[in-house]
Amino acid sequence: MSETAEELIYDAGGDTAEGAVPGSKPAAVWRGVPGRQWDDWKWQVRNRVMNCEQLSRVISLRNDEKEDIESCLERFKMAVTPYYASLMDPCDKKCPIRMQAVPSASEMDTEPCEMDDPVGEEKFSPTENIVHRYPDRVLFILTHKCSMYCRHCTRRRIVGGEDFTASTASMEKAFDYIGAHKEIRDVLLSGGDPLMLSDARLESIIMRLRQMPHVEVIRIGTRVPVVLPMRITGELVGMLRKYHPIWINTHFNHPKEITPESSKACEMIADAGIPLGNQSVLLKGINNDAGVLKELFTKLVKIRVRPYYLYQCDIAKGIGHFRTPVSEGIELMRQIRGYISGYAVPVFVIDAPGGGGKTPINPEYLVSLDENKAVIKNYLGQEYTYTNPLNTRPFRAR
Ligand SMILES: *Cc1c(COP(=O)(O)O)cnc(C)c1O
Ligand code: SF4
Repeated sequence: MSETAEELIYDAGGDTAEGAVPGSKPAAVWRGVPGRQWDDWKWQVRNRVMNCEQLSRVISLRNDEKEDIESCLERFKMAVTPYYASLMDPCDKKCPIRMQAVPSASEMDTEPCEMDDPVGEEKFSPTENIVHRYPDRVLFILTHKCSMYCRHCTRRRIVGGEDFTASTASMEKAFDYIGAHKEIRDVLLSGGDPLMLSDARLESIIMRLRQMPHVEVIRIGTRVPVVLPMRITGELVGMLRKYHPIWINTHFNHPKEITPESSKACEMIADAGIPLGNQSVLLKGINNDAGVLKELFTKLVKIRVRPYYLYQCDIAKGIGHFRTPVSEGIELMRQIRGYISGYAVPVFVIDAPGGGGKTPINPEYLVSLDENKAVIKNYLGQEYTYTNPLNTRPFRAR
């Protein structure tokens, strides 16, 4: 079949699922796929690229690259949805989409500082699926599956490993824990990707949490809007909106990920009254550039996603090639704050190794502080003085 004929099948209006937006183009291998299948998230999951042979039909790979990928796959799974794979540049190894999805030989290098559990989650895990690090909120891990396995994943020690979906017994223990700890007012459904669960399964979990009056907010952490936007269906958001307040945090890292499809997914979430935040990871060669980050953050605001955190890449094993020095992240933040809307500026954090939690790292705007005055520097580096009220003593935290 000629390429034009293949394109016709996909572009044929009648085959497009209802409400679908004219979108990004499937890579050549999938051009014959009818639009209604392409737009079906289960088809996308079933047809993920999971081995080298499949990958070489999407992007060009040299033999040595194939060998490297094969050896990486012994340690950490690969899975790329056809949708996300189609955003990859088939010829450019440095494509930011490709770098997030395709293993590289560098994953086999480890550095002495690196850890399996870089942010100390196991230490704070009172029961199998719960991480309780902060006073008023917990992480509730529902699955280790994701639709796409990010090469930079913090939880690579578990995610994409054996196909874990929490057993009934361990789920009951988790519900018991949350039920017994009345100080928990915010439950963060996490994984893996919780939106890999069916709507019915997810609803049964959310319903259980909603029976606990002390659980005020339910948050979902998911990369689905970015890597599998078809998962955001009318049925899903219709179900979620019954259990407000629901918040969603997603994970865009590069402006190239903001496509008609991912924009539509975020629009549907926002229209259901679910506030959307974004957690990016600072990744060398992908987004460690002020121009790229400013474009990413302002485009996110345009699709009603509020940049929430920018993470310093953590010290998980085998992701050293993505790490930048902390000083670079601080300098990037200095080049962003003030230059774009405050709404578009996330908080730069280090998730403290060993379990200290998320710690904000800011460029310094305070030049000096004494009883009488604070000398500050604005975003352009110009100094200003704020004079303290007369006859006050320095504030001391109680
Ligand atoms: C990130 C995280 C949270 C949520 O932190 P926020 O700063 O409220 O977004 C909660 N628990 C754990 C264990 C976390 O890692
Ligand atoms: S979606 Fe999240 S949990 Fe899954 S591989 Fe990516 S970073 Fe890891």
